[in-house]
Amino acid sequence: LTILGLESSCDDTAAAIVRQASGAPAQILSSVVLGQTALHSPFGGVVPEIAARAHAEKLDICVRQALTEAQMTLSDIDAIAVTAGPGLIGGVLSGVMCAKGIAAGTGKPLIGVNHLAGHALTPRLTDQTAYPYLMLLVSGGHCQFLIVRGPEDFTRLGGTIDDAPGEAFDKTARLLGLPQPGGPAVQAEALNGNPKRFAFPRPLLDRPGCDMSFSGLKTALLRTRDQVIAEKGGLTPQDRADMCAGFQAAVADVLAEKTRRALALYLFEHPATPTIAVAGGVAANTAIRAMLESVCAENSVTFTAPPLALCTDNAAMIAYAGLERFRAGGQDDMTLAARPRWPLDKTSPALLGSGK
Ligand code: ATP
Ligand code: FE
Repeated sequence: LTILGLESSCDDTAAAIVRQASGAPAQILSSVVLGQTALHSPFGGVVPEIAARAHAEKLDICVRQALTEAQMTLSDIDAIAVTAGPGLIGGVLSGVMCAKGIAAGTGKPLIGVNHLAGHALTPRLTDQTAYPYLMLLVSGGHCQFLIVRGPEDFTRLGGTIDDAPGEAFDKTARLLGLPQPGGPAVQAEALNGNPKRFAFPRPLLDRPGCDMSFSGLKTALLRTRDQVIAEKGGLTPQDRADMCAGFQAAVADVLAEKTRRALALYLFEHPATPTIAVAGGVAANTAIRAMLESVCAENSVTFTAPPLALCTDNAAMIAYAGLERFRAGGQDDMTLAARPRWPLDKTSPALLGSGK
């Protein structure tokens, strides 16, 4: 099977071609990602209207480039997979319209894919991870623990009740005058910082379960920053580094402890397949990754993290999730709708489904 995937749910326009012969590992034949960072940076965040227009302009360029890199034409493709949500509705609509156009023009099947399923199935694309496994999805917009049992079979164990960690890293960087995206900038500062100098809270650790909260951390950072400025009239590079180190350690501690709890729940049901996989841009953080690796080592659990380019938004994961869905008999028609919210776990309240 050869699948063309499209992704346009946030600020990356992407197209990719993934092929899998039955019984063989999947291959990424091409994966094109056109980011929009420069378009949004003057506004300090993603502007949905600008994103939607840019997707509409760039999607066909992406598709053409993906076909060229894979040395293929549309006639070599078996089906078109597209992110149908959750995400910024204008962007998702651009992708769905483009995919419908290609499907109508070529007569090939159309497959709507949940963006979060794309992230959650990535370890199967990169490492042939077998079902079931425990997934920690930590990105700019999401944070949740999922038991992944099949291409459309997910159980959400918990997640953030407010901000996602990536969002908290980005806001922290903004508060300290560091560049965007904030994650890498805060991580670099933290290398020279003392994580113990400022005491940051570890929200919700005193409560049972796997839910998390990161918005209070950002408020604590703001208060600490203003206090230091009030006392000394400004921030020294060391102050900034210490705040970044303290903030990052707090996020890592919360994620580590909640991962321990999610793992206990997971192992209770699936003791024979002890695997944790991570996905999302925050999984690139070396301190957080080290923490997760040590939690896995403590429990003799296999740890899998896709390469960074496949942790962040891309279309190869959408093509692959579409491939699995198609192989299982899933398909859509021209009534496929773009959905701003689309919980993965059908039993979870829609309000918490996206992890926001
Ligand atoms: P989503 O995938 O949920 O729709 P997104 O596209 O913003 O949202 P990703 O592309 O997966 O998310 O990841 C981007 C986020 O990851 C940003 O918030 C960025 O700050 C964060 N990030 C990237 N590298 C690091 C790092 N080294 N440490 C911490 N955070 C990081
Ligand atoms: Fe994403």
